[in-house]
Amino acid sequence: MDCAEFQQKLPELFEAQADLSQNEHLRQCEPCAALVRDLQYIAQQAKLLLPIHDPSPAVWDTIQSALKEEQNDDKQPPPDSDAAP
Ligand SMILES: [Zn+2]
Repeated sequence: MDCAEFQQKLPELFEAQADLSQNEHLRQCEPCAALVRDLQYIAQQAKLLLPIHDPSPAVWDTIQSALKEEQNDDKQPPPDSDAAP
């Protein structure tokens, strides 16, 4: 499993309340481990804001945009960065 695959599965794992400390990818991948820590923090804050039992789509919207921001932090330029200077 690579990082992209892992991150795609992440919402599922969160929803299933999987024990991410046992996740094989996280054990080998510090960036993803750090990301999960961030997301757990975000999810916690979101739960405080939205004290409901089921995670709402808004929670995952927050997490998805956090993921996108993380990916945008990558040093690789986006594939469609063909804007003329
Ligand atoms: Zn990773």
